[in-house]
Amino acid sequence: MERSLAVIGAGVFGASLARHCARAGWRVTLVEQVAPGHARAASGDESRLIRCSHGDDEWHTSLARRAWQLWHEIDPRLVAPAGVAWFARREDGWEAASERTLRAQGIPCERVDPATLFPACRDGDLAFTLFEPEAGILRAREATRELTRQAVAEGAELVLARARPDGAAAVLDSGRRLEADHVVWTCGGWLPGLFPGLVDDVRITQQDVFYFGAGASWRTPGVPGWVDYDGAAYGLGDLDGRGVKVAPDVEGPPIDPETARRVPLARHERLAREYLAHRFPALAAAPLVGTRTCHYEITPDTRFVVAPHPDHDGVVWLVGGSSGHGFKHGPALAERLEGWLTGTTAPDPRLGLGTRDAHSGLRTAGSITPER
Ligand SMILES: Cc1cc2nc3c(=O)[nH]c(=O)nc-3n(C[C@H](O)[C@H](O)[C@H](O)COP(=O)(O)OP(=O)(O)OC[C@H]3O[C@@H](n4cnc5c(N)ncnc54)[C@H](O)[C@@H]3O)c2cc1C
Repeated sequence: MERSLAVIGAGVFGASLARHCARAGWRVTLVEQVAPGHARAASGDESRLIRCSHGDDEWHTSLARRAWQLWHEIDPRLVAPAGVAWFARREDGWEAASERTLRAQGIPCERVDPATLFPACRDGDLAFTLFEPEAGILRAREATRELTRQAVAEGAELVLARARPDGAAAVLDSGRRLEADHVVWTCGGWLPGLFPGLVDDVRITQQDVFYFGAGASWRTPGVPGWVDYDGAAYGLGDLDGRGVKVAPDVEGPPIDPETARRVPLARHERLAREYLAHRFPALAAAPLVGTRTCHYEITPDTRFVVAPHPDHDGVVWLVGGSSGHGFKHGPALAERLEGWLTGTTAPDPRLGLGTRDAHSGLRTAGSITPER
């Protein structure tokens, strides 16, 4: 019997689910209020790191590895094969735990001299540098659009409209009422506003990304992606001529994803410049050539929300809270979610609704300094 699915929100989570289920023979409607990969969506940025390191968290490590395979099947051009370097400030911190987990799962990694990876890199404060050679960079906006395109090519209907929940259904601003075996709300930063009282502890925060002009030796691939977990910063070289990317990964102030003025904060630019001066001094005075203001949807423990709505007997699901590290996982999470929707596998209780313990763990900033 054909199953039906309505997915609300064509970011990476929604587009991945729509594509996966359409390929599996479901009758799928994908609803998006603006456009897949639009400027205010978290999935609408140009680049996102794909890495398997997740400290000692085996679940996310294997999810990322499965996603890496799937992204290559979806379209290998979406993955820039650059590798990702982890700057370890401690002998036995997140990177050492990641290294153990990666090795246990047979995922390639090695300790390297960062001088072999970057045109210039200051490493006096580092205990070691862990390199994931098969990690890389996803062309995020293109990837979101490609997932949507493939979903439609597999038979999904794409509807550009805003939806609101009404019981177990989704009602579009045209008045059309969508009912399906499952209605999955993958609305990113808009999710708490749509379901007040259910995901109130998801914080929507302003996160700024900076691009700096540099010469050809800073091109990515060539230069890898990098993460300084204890330094709360990450970045990559110049991908597709956009400039060298540096993002301070401190938790920014709260913003409204719909109405926020998308202009970076001066203090975030200062943090990016300070990081360049610290790690890549050759770029300390590089010109700022671009910026982007995005938002995180951070859960207290940085685990996603993938949970049935308590009132609708498994019909309505909420999927979000991607906590600044969800992009890479999209296609692999969709695969697992299909099993959770149909009941062939049990959903992971750690992703459920309800109170969670605070833990900064899974995104790229080990030290979180919330700004208010
Ligand atoms: C600066 C920054 C850097 C990041 N770096 C990385 C990284 O390196 N690696 C990584 O894996 N992840 C990274 N992430 C996280 C990643 O981008 C997000 O986890 C992911 O994009 C979230 O996808 P989503 O589909 O949940 O949300 P979104 O992409 O925001 O999509 C939600 C969609 O729902 C739509 N929508 C909302 N409400 C409605 C409605 N009522 N009706 C119809 N449509 C609606 C919106 O228009 C939007 O298109 C980063 C995030 C940021 C902000």
